[in-house]
Amino acid sequence: MNILILGGGGREHALAWAVLQNPKCDKLIVAPGNAGIANIAECADLDILDGSAVIQFCQDNAVEFIIIGPEAPLAAGVADDLRAAGFLVFGPSKEAARLEASKGFTKEICDAAGAPTAAYARFDDAAAAKDHVRAQGAPIVVKADGLAAGKGVIVAMDEATALAAIDDMFGGEFGAAGAEVVIEEFMEGEEASFFVLCDGTNALPVGTAQDHKRAFDGDEGPNTGGMGAYSPAPVLTDALQDQVMERIVRPTLTEMARRGTPYAGVLYVGLMIRDGTARLVEYNCRFGDPECQVLMLRLGAQALDLLLAAAEGGLDEARVNWAGDHAMTVVLAAKGYPGDYAKGTEIRGLDQLPETAWEICFHAGTRAEGGRVLANGGRVLNATARGATLQEARDRAYAMAEAVDWDDGFHRGDIGWRVLRR
Ligand code: ATP
Repeated sequence: MNILILGGGGREHALAWAVLQNPKCDKLIVAPGNAGIANIAECADLDILDGSAVIQFCQDNAVEFIIIGPEAPLAAGVADDLRAAGFLVFGPSKEAARLEASKGFTKEICDAAGAPTAAYARFDDAAAAKDHVRAQGAPIVVKADGLAAGKGVIVAMDEATALAAIDDMFGGEFGAAGAEVVIEEFMEGEEASFFVLCDGTNALPVGTAQDHKRAFDGDEGPNTGGMGAYSPAPVLTDALQDQVMERIVRPTLTEMARRGTPYAGVLYVGLMIRDGTARLVEYNCRFGDPECQVLMLRLGAQALDLLLAAAEGGLDEARVNWAGDHAMTVVLAAKGYPGDYAKGTEIRGLDQLPETAWEICFHAGTRAEGGRVLANGGRVLNATARGATLQEARDRAYAMAEAVDWDDGFHRGDIGWRVLRR
């Protein structure tokens, strides 16, 4: 089978690695890919937001299955375009992807499905939103409705911060994404992510993870796209996973199907857990990055069979063979990230790193130039490893991270602290 993966980050390197473990894959192309992906697959220069261009490319290259990594092509309707042209696709339709692309829509679905989540109100003008904040008081959470690359959420510990966030959002700081604002009750607890494959009707859990959003050790510093992750997340016990499937995931899928917009793809379920109960924080309609890296290392070759079952509609028959292992990924980022950082700095020592079924350094923002690997983004490498215990996975991942010769990069030293300290 000829397979195309859309995207070029660490998530897509991990997907590409897993797909290549499975003998069903004859040929793999990744668009646009990165320097690490180029070592294992063909990379193509393609506008992945342009459905017609992707269809043409698939026809020209006899592609039979397309895996969509990031949210932008999903929100742009590229999965719909490909399906309409007769291709087998992993990724939800544009309408179903509104579970990520509109926070107000997600709340509406939660109401209809009876799924537990924070109490909320939706606003399309600043004055009413501010009155609501004054009436509720802080802490309170202010969210731009649309996609804002993780920056459109302000967890306000005091009223002034919430009021300023409302002004910023209606003032156009997030463009059209801020034309509507959702204001939520502040939830306390421990956050974890739960990943469920869906084929429109059936749902199959494929792992849990926790990530570290802050840039520096001790969960200090600015928010980032994620500085590291591990799987499984012990806080999401089997009983809690069952609870989330019954109270949140299945009712959501039923409601989406009832509306004529069934959800097929991976549902990333962001949860807040307290006193044995989980409430929904958010849905994403794609694998998390860097959570995907730990999930793919744990799933290995079976990942392709599972993604195919989700795309074809056969998840009721599918099972995950868990190895009972743990995985961790440590993100190496360019100094200055998530603020200003230099691109084009050279990274050495990558060819000395081990690459086994237990450990691999996935590339995120890298590019190759004349035999050298150069940094080409904020988050640049993901040192990822498995082990019988989280400590073992950690030791392998950090040995890799520390062996990378890159003066212009940094990484956190405490990924997994919450679990390792227990
Ligand atoms: P990202 O893309 O980074 O996942 P997002 O823009 O989709 O973020 P959310 O996941 O809804 O936004 O919120 C981002 C973070 O803000 C959450 O991971 C959580 O830490 C915090 N948060 C969101 N809603 C609440 C809430 N109601 N109570 C407490 N914290 C919250």
